[in-house]
Amino acid sequence: MRPPVEKFAREIAPEKVANVSSASATRVISRIKALAEAFEDPDAARRHAAEVKNYVLDNLKDLLIQLEAKCQENGIRVYWAKDGERARQIALEICRATYPEGGTIVKAKSMVTEEIHLNPFLEENGYRPVETDLGEYVVQLEHETPSHIVAPIVHMNRGQVANAFEREGLGPRTEDPVELTMQARAKLRSHFREAQIGISGVNFAVAETGRLVLVENEGNNRLSTTAPVVHIAFMGIEKILPCEPDLALFLRLLGCSATAQHMTGYVHLISGPRKEERDGPREVHLILLDNGRSRILRSQYREILRCIRCGACQNVCPVYRQVSGHAYHYVYSGPIGAVLAPALDGVEKMGWVAKASSLCGACEEVCPVCIPIPRMLLQIRDESVRAGAVKDSVPWHLFAKAATSGWQWRAGLKLLPMASKMPHPLKQGWTEYRAMPHRVGRPFRSWWNERR
Ligand code: SF4
Repeated sequence: MRPPVEKFAREIAPEKVANVSSASATRVISRIKALAEAFEDPDAARRHAAEVKNYVLDNLKDLLIQLEAKCQENGIRVYWAKDGERARQIALEICRATYPEGGTIVKAKSMVTEEIHLNPFLEENGYRPVETDLGEYVVQLEHETPSHIVAPIVHMNRGQVANAFEREGLGPRTEDPVELTMQARAKLRSHFREAQIGISGVNFAVAETGRLVLVENEGNNRLSTTAPVVHIAFMGIEKILPCEPDLALFLRLLGCSATAQHMTGYVHLISGPRKEERDGPREVHLILLDNGRSRILRSQYREILRCIRCGACQNVCPVYRQVSGHAYHYVYSGPIGAVLAPALDGVEKMGWVAKASSLCGACEEVCPVCIPIPRMLLQIRDESVRAGAVKDSVPWHLFAKAATSGWQWRAGLKLLPMASKMPHPLKQGWTEYRAMPHRVGRPFRSWWNERR
């Protein structure tokens, strides 16, 4: 049976491939330019960021305790959730305390809430979560899932967005991006006015000061976190930074890597609920989500917890560009997803996804925190085969045996020209889209022997 990514790739519409490929290519080029403008030595900045995150991982427990204490000093209520189920229940209890009869909840973009499938859970319990990030809003209208960490509708074009807005009665059909944005804005404003609860993710939380940092470009995060009377922030436990000066580096690296901006349009530093101010939330709740991260921290994949969710590895990945995020059948896709999915859910269930890589190394080259993704993909492949979760499509053990035995190797080389002309099931995957390579010239050994 073909792996799900390959099956998906065969059935994907050419239009979708074109949308993803062109948007990704544009982001790859603009990222290089932005980094070169923002940093004298971008690679040194990336290495420094990796060191800061390594420090965080080495001291995670202490930093989290410090963060909790500082947040509480600031008036933020902190909760610990060992898994998605607990995080959802905590959120529901807060919602019921505020809004017992159910109602609208405005949501800022948050991958961690996607990870724990928060929206369907809230809907089952009588609430109406409304995504307020433009891309996420379209995803919600289409009953889809995001296909990119930063650009959730990278697989769609403006015509498809126009169709969705027309169908939902947002206004007369138009493909003008400004008009489409205005239609969504008008609709979302009414939700901001009525919602009593706002939900967001957290890009960084600073242990030293207990401040939650959110970045965005649309202003919807600000409205989601300040217009309602209650703000619930979800955060993966690895999203911590030791102190505020670290932000200068990370905000710039994230902006350049994600959207080719030196800094995103808005940076929010949330220090707690309103005090003397006339507006802002009366309550701020922070839910710290583990959901397998402590296990990853103790594993050989711990460096994946350095990830700041910029999506640069997705943009540059030749496999992701051809198949789009939905091919990975997981909330995180592309190279980051190919590591995170099996690391979070186990190789038995998600090990197959590590095959969705050409191992070209581009993901590691662009990663702002230098995560060695290709090495991890190889480790996951190895672990998956050993666990019996993934079958090797090529009998490599036979190849290894032949390649380490002198006479078998020489005999194999002699037979190779003949074998390459014979049909074989192993060649099918190769020859469907490309020609089988043929050896040209003489064997190296005879050439070498002549020159000795
Ligand atoms: S792995 Fe690196 S490049 Fe990919 S999303 Fe995370 S930080 Fe960005």
